[in-house]
Amino acid sequence: MKKSLIPSNISNLSQLLEDGLVLCNKAGSVLYFNNLAKQYLGNILNEKKIYELIPTEELKDLDKSHEKGIFNDQFNFQTEDVLKRSLIIKVKKIEDNLYGVLLLDMTLQRNLEKVRRDFVANVSHELRSPLTSLVGFIETMLNGQVNDAETQQKFLYIMDEEAKRMTRLIDDILSLSKVETEEHISPNTSISILNPIQYVMSSIKERGLSNNHNLIFEDTRLNINDPCFVIGNIDEINQVFVNLLENAIKYSYKETDIVVRIEQYNPKEVVIRVINKGDVIPEKYLDRLTERFFRVDKARSRELGGTGLGLAIVKHILIRHRAVLNITSKHDGVTTFSIIFPLSPK
Ligand code: ADP
Repeated sequence: MKKSLIPSNISNLSQLLEDGLVLCNKAGSVLYFNNLAKQYLGNILNEKKIYELIPTEELKDLDKSHEKGIFNDQFNFQTEDVLKRSLIIKVKKIEDNLYGVLLLDMTLQRNLEKVRRDFVANVSHELRSPLTSLVGFIETMLNGQVNDAETQQKFLYIMDEEAKRMTRLIDDILSLSKVETEEHISPNTSISILNPIQYVMSSIKERGLSNNHNLIFEDTRLNINDPCFVIGNIDEINQVFVNLLENAIKYSYKETDIVVRIEQYNPKEVVIRVINKGDVIPEKYLDRLTERFFRVDKARSRELGGTGLGLAIVKHILIRHRAVLNITSKHDGVTTFSIIFPLSPK
């Protein structure tokens, strides 16, 4: 096989490929490779035979493998470098003494699959604990071990709490899965951002605030009559403020103010801040707060009825709205969740 048999424009064409490409002769000697192949298999490609880089029987003698009928033209391979890439290798005979080896990088898919598996494991774990507790109480009552009305009432109260916890968890999982699937679709209705803020604040006030909290609205814009239109889905934006305000209430000290503040510094965007005072969130956790099931203090979140999914839902809704979330927590315990919303053109 002369190298000249390789088309002269292969280099240009193969660099367009989104996969690695190696051309070799039937003995496995590498004749050509593109940049992606080099990235996947390392710099030593032209000094080695293809089966030394991808050690598998079929690649030892491509021609013989074909003849003997043991040729498997597609298989998985994991690179031995630190990245441990998952590659799908496809081998095609092009001519008598010319074989093409395509390398498809499946690492992202493998990682996504792992995230999905971890999520399923987390959900099962989160559901198991209220369920175990419920089953335990039911068995105790069925066995006739609880005879006095007061203990029965206490048990029923705990069972009710555990059942509600499971319902909240399932509701949040469904909301999260809905917003995640629709994340790439931008909403198409124009709404005033003031409406969901005012709606959520007044419904929280109507329900009554515990711990003597004060819920305060501040509008610092120059023109407070501007309705501040954004492209948005009203139900989803309501949910963002419900989650942020419920957290602000849950995690703040007694008798402190919870402030929702609107600020505007340019005609293109509006900033909405939800500010509360409580325990400082350590800096190293700030980036992790929007991860599914991440809590700074798991026991505290559980005690307050949290599911660990509220901020993950907020994050995905905001991505869909092309809005940006920033979180800060200062030494004095002032925690601020700021959302920068792009304003819709008038
Ligand atoms: P949870 O159901 O646990 O409240 P979230 O996803 O809403 O779950 O929040 C994740 C974690 O972020 C919480 O468990 C808490 O540790 C932290 N957190 C959220 N909001 C605040 C806040 N306003 N002040 C302090 N910590 C907060």
